[in-house]
Amino acid sequence: MLALAVTMAIAALPPRAVGATIEDKRIAITIDDLPFASATPMSVMEASRLNDSLLRALRRHEAPAIGFVNEDRLLVAGQIDRGAAILEAWLDAGMALGNHNFGHVGLWDTSVEQVQAAVLKGEVITRWLTTQRGVPLRYYRPPFTQTGRNEADREAFERFLQAHGYTLAPFTVDHDDYWFACVYDHLDGTEAAADRQVVEDDYDAHLRRSIGVFESMSAQLFGRQIPQILLIHANRLNADTLDRSLSTLRAMGYRFITLDEAVKDQAYQRPVAASGKFGPSWLARWARFEGVKLSVYGQPDPDGPTVALHRRHCGS
Ligand SMILES: [Zn+2]
Repeated sequence: MLALAVTMAIAALPPRAVGATIEDKRIAITIDDLPFASATPMSVMEASRLNDSLLRALRRHEAPAIGFVNEDRLLVAGQIDRGAAILEAWLDAGMALGNHNFGHVGLWDTSVEQVQAAVLKGEVITRWLTTQRGVPLRYYRPPFTQTGRNEADREAFERFLQAHGYTLAPFTVDHDDYWFACVYDHLDGTEAAADRQVVEDDYDAHLRRSIGVFESMSAQLFGRQIPQILLIHANRLNADTLDRSLSTLRAMGYRFITLDEAVKDQAYQRPVAASGKFGPSWLARWARFEGVKLSVYGQPDPDGPTVALHRRHCGS
């Protein structure tokens, strides 16, 4: 009875009032590669169903997400309306859309000018749809999260984004969803259902482990939990598991916020260096830029049962 009374008293207090051990943990959900990312062919119809599943999970958890669009993937002969309807469904659900450029061109082996052209070419349908509804098209997520080979490229590209009304969308949490998704995309045959369950369980465990690492990086760099930004992709795996992932995040103490709210935190005002070829979490970028030594620099390598399945289905 006493324990119940104490629990109720704690529940009535705002999180920070209880003490330093309970923090207001927030996370923004960002989903790349709309309308879909897949290691195997996917029809527009399947992509449409996949996005419906993502949106259902987001709405169920009242998670205000942003989807980053590759408009080249909308250009399927005879199906363009259906593809555009996927983006409309996102806006209907109250979610935001951002630009992920035409052709998913990274800023590593392509010139700044070519990537700039891909940004403008990749905003036509999204800009029209967002303007119709009076909602902003504010964020750009760089493919492969590459922000430049060097500082000169990074600065030139950011000036270009600013001039076109874009803000670069950072991220802090990556838990290798594309790696798990490759296996998931290839599963078929009699063992597919069982293997799917194995991958889903392993993926959820990997999310928990990865979140723990990024929380540790935040604590080491900032002495607190900054709003995290999760980066995942519009793939079959997340269509089937986003509901579970969001439940896991809630169970870990997170509440869901917009990308707008996350980047307002002063942490995101800190400068970062150009990404180079591999674009790690902003937490690692800040540490590198400031010369701060951390005990960890990113999510652990997957080491569960999906490793063997990955070798079989994805070749490594
Ligand atoms: Zn992408």
